[in-house]
Amino acid sequence: MFIRPFDYERAEHLADACDLLRAHGEAAKVIAGGQSLMALVNLGLAQPEVVIDISRAAGYRDCVAADGYLTVGALTTHARLASDPVAARCQPLLGAAAGQIGNARVRSRGTLGGSLAHSDPAAELPLVMVALGASYELTDGRQTRVARAEEFHLGFLTTQLADDELITAVSVPVLGPGWGWGFEEFSRRDGDFALAAAAVLVRIADGIIVESRVAVGAVGDRPVRLADVEISLSGAAPADAAARVGPLRGIRPVGDAGASADYRAHLCRVLVTRAIAQASARSLEAA
Ligand SMILES: Cc1cc2nc3c(=O)[nH]c(=O)nc-3n(C[C@H](O)[C@H](O)[C@H](O)COP(=O)(O)OP(=O)(O)OC[C@H]3O[C@@H](n4cnc5c(N)ncnc54)[C@H](O)[C@@H]3O)c2cc1C
Repeated sequence: MFIRPFDYERAEHLADACDLLRAHGEAAKVIAGGQSLMALVNLGLAQPEVVIDISRAAGYRDCVAADGYLTVGALTTHARLASDPVAARCQPLLGAAAGQIGNARVRSRGTLGGSLAHSDPAAELPLVMVALGASYELTDGRQTRVARAEEFHLGFLTTQLADDELITAVSVPVLGPGWGWGFEEFSRRDGDFALAAAAVLVRIADGIIVESRVAVGAVGDRPVRLADVEISLSGAAPADAAARVGPLRGIRPVGDAGASADYRAHLCRVLVTRAIAQASARSLEAA
């Protein structure tokens, strides 16, 4: 594939990158870790005339806990998220998911903001953000706004981001007392994108599940929460939880070279039940 030449600009601050995006319009793309954008460029699916590098922009690389929320900067790499002690203490689901992304090279370059903005339906981080009820902080360099993860991911590689907006940070609730988490994914080879994935949080009190959040990825054009499963888990003893998970409604798996739609649906149900068991065990351990 012949790659069309592009101009290169480097932004010292994210606000500068927003100015550059406005100045160059649709011809411009920002690049953070480059682990998704350059794949699109190499395949000829993206042909930016100007690439604006934010990988060395100041700030937005920390994991900070305050007032019941963990806030992670958009330039945090997957490797950092997977090993950060504050993230591990406050919301371990994030690091567990980040640690499953691609391979060590991808994790050392790829960023949280890049993964969320790219919005691949099979990506781990959008899935856990939907499960956790995350909020994304977006800026156009002049104003900031907050988008809910469940509303931000609109479909395959499609988000709510305006052309001149960037993600600056993500906030998730700190894992509260009584909560446990589970994350399960299945891919054909280690490091491949998942064929299906599940992220689950449950809170157990007096031996029964009283609250849960269940989301799945790679089985549609965006990660989705499974309200039916959450309702069916309410009041279940952990040992009975798997039996309450029937055929999953609310997912629209598609068949491709990796798996048929039916296999994906089956896989997804299996992963959901395993993640519920993991989450329940962690909740009981912590009690
Ligand atoms: C071999 C390989 C295997 C991979 N396996 C997986 C996997 O298993 N799971 C997975 O989830 N991902 C996987 N990836 C993708 C990887 O996680 C990327 O790092 C991630 O999707 C994008 O992050 P990035 O920083 O590299 O973004 P970039 O490639 O730099 O950018 C991606 C997109 O996001 C935009 N962007 C970047 N940062 C921001 C921002 N802060 N605000 C707004 N827009 C922004 C860019 O303009 C571009 O459109 C894989 C990649 C490779 C090459």
